[in-house]
Amino acid sequence: MNEKIKIGVSSCLLGNEVRYNGGHSHDRYVTGTLGQYFTFVAVCPEVEAGFGIPREAMRLVGDPEAPRLMTTKTKKDCTAKMMSWVKPRVKELEKEGLCGFIFKKGSPSSGMERVRVYTDKGMPSNRGSGMFARAFMNHFPLIPTEEDGRLNDSALRENFIERIFALRRWRLMTAERKNPGNIVAFHTAHKLQIMSHSIKHYRDIGRLVAQGKKLDIQSLYEQYETLFMQALSLKGTVKKNVNVLQHMAGYFKKQLSKDEKQELQEVIEQYHQFYTPLIVPVTLMNHYVRKYDQEYLKKQHYLNPHPIELKLRNRA
Ligand code: SF4
Repeated sequence: MNEKIKIGVSSCLLGNEVRYNGGHSHDRYVTGTLGQYFTFVAVCPEVEAGFGIPREAMRLVGDPEAPRLMTTKTKKDCTAKMMSWVKPRVKELEKEGLCGFIFKKGSPSSGMERVRVYTDKGMPSNRGSGMFARAFMNHFPLIPTEEDGRLNDSALRENFIERIFALRRWRLMTAERKNPGNIVAFHTAHKLQIMSHSIKHYRDIGRLVAQGKKLDIQSLYEQYETLFMQALSLKGTVKKNVNVLQHMAGYFKKQLSKDEKQELQEVIEQYHQFYTPLIVPVTLMNHYVRKYDQEYLKKQHYLNPHPIELKLRNRA
């Protein structure tokens, strides 16, 4: 579990000089902060597909759902050359066991979304995805993906990193022999995390697990993984977190004094009113879980979904 988690990254974000002009787009948050926990598989579609450095800049042209990759000045169509590399490369990445991918924003090869696509007359719209990024996301729909620009948004960043750590735990569990008991244990430890994203998924997954013994084991694992990763991709709001925190508070009805209960409610309410970040009520909850050795809650990944040093719950 302490091994670094493997994720894919657009090569230029790591500081590699692979851009069309021989430059890079080094992202220090990726290499400096995330690099402490993640190990990177670098992918530069344009260099790996054989376009060289330096090379003429390219852009997407035509239908945003199925655009062509064209050089900007000489108008050379590079689609076939790129796609003949994309298909086997995406397949090859299956072997890497990636738990996420960080793409380079805006790139006609690597951009995840809102990439400019031009009409044949040169009018742009922001409706495309880079050719490699699109193929990757289609092939691995459950692997968390983000791009460098969106990682500056604290909510998106937290959600992305939370999903990477969750997928890693799932992969570690599925590496063991498949049986319904392992799914039950995994699900029990993730109930509150799922609840903090989607009550609907919490109920649907609960039903799936309850029927587990009647289902084909392979199908159970596949359905669970799909629902679990879909649940976590939904935004965790203050309201949803307050619901989870109140649910947890219910476990301490007997142990906490009147004053402690009041303090806990005040701390949850301060978070509810956006005066304090999530880490504040979660820290108090962790304190009580430890103090009263609360068996069920101490196994909940909701309380520690990712390393505290990443400070992902410190925004109000
Ligand atoms: S955006 Fe993608 S294709 Fe362009 S230099 Fe970076 S990794 Fe290579």
